[in-house]
Amino acid sequence: MDLWYSEMQTENVRFSIKVEKQLVSVKSEFQQIDIFNSYEFGKILALDGYLMVTEKDEFIYHEMMTHVPMAANPKIETVLVIGAGDGGTVRELVRYCTIKQIDMVEIDKAVVDVCKAYLPQTSSKLTDKRVNIYYEDGMKFVRGQKDMYDLIIIDSTDPFGPGEGLFTKEFYGNCFKALKENGILVNQHESPYYNQDAQAMAKIHQRMKKVFPVSEVYQAHIPTYPSGHWLFGFSSKGIKPVEALDEQGWNNLSISTKYYNTDLHKGAFALPNYVKELLNDENA
Ligand code: SAM
Repeated sequence: MDLWYSEMQTENVRFSIKVEKQLVSVKSEFQQIDIFNSYEFGKILALDGYLMVTEKDEFIYHEMMTHVPMAANPKIETVLVIGAGDGGTVRELVRYCTIKQIDMVEIDKAVVDVCKAYLPQTSSKLTDKRVNIYYEDGMKFVRGQKDMYDLIIIDSTDPFGPGEGLFTKEFYGNCFKALKENGILVNQHESPYYNQDAQAMAKIHQRMKKVFPVSEVYQAHIPTYPSGHWLFGFSSKGIKPVEALDEQGWNNLSISTKYYNTDLHKGAFALPNYVKELLNDENA
């Protein structure tokens, strides 16, 4: 019998991956957590049925979330990561010996426990001594924080379920206050392609623009995410992602990456016209 994992990417589009077996299935206080072993993509983490991480293409997402801000400001020392329970974002951050402190705020301890047990590829660096893990709602964690972080990375689920609050203007405003003078915020920004995702992504950008003086969007190709076309937000108190890029400085670090490089850094901010139009829609 063939086993398939299927994600409803829209009401009319289904994305399926042939699965060898299900490795774990846990219902936590917050969500349904499943890990499958697949033939094409290796292990897959799904939350509430939505695909979060596959072993084969997670490098693209995690490298783009971290190296873009790190190459724009090599002086980053304190980082707040919200969500990210699989550990992939932290794995990339700990490669910088200049980073002194990484606070990770994940609402669901069960995600971290399951990933530690079944996804060492992403979770293995969560034990780094610079990493402090807080099992809390990221929205509450940032409330009242002032001038604490050089970088905030929002590596959350989608704008429904436990992640909903992480897409609000109030939350972005609190992140702004929690950032230091040269602070940068990077967030997963959904896909521009299917209508429902496109609306969510346009809304995120309008909210971000109202809070941050610099608010830009960049893209990557992630095969297992809806439509494969994925966006990230780069917002800051002043640093511009392409202008500030320290190409030589970053290349001198000799961090070996599979997706990110400094040419791609510049190109990733060049967006298709239909995406620019969506981002400029003030009524989103
Ligand atoms: N790469 C992924 C994607 O976009 O598909 C995201 C991966 S990561 C597993 C997302 C994490 O965000 C989940 O583990 C989830 O528990 C966590 N999360 C959701 N809402 C949260 C909140 N309000 N505060 C902190 N973490 C949250």
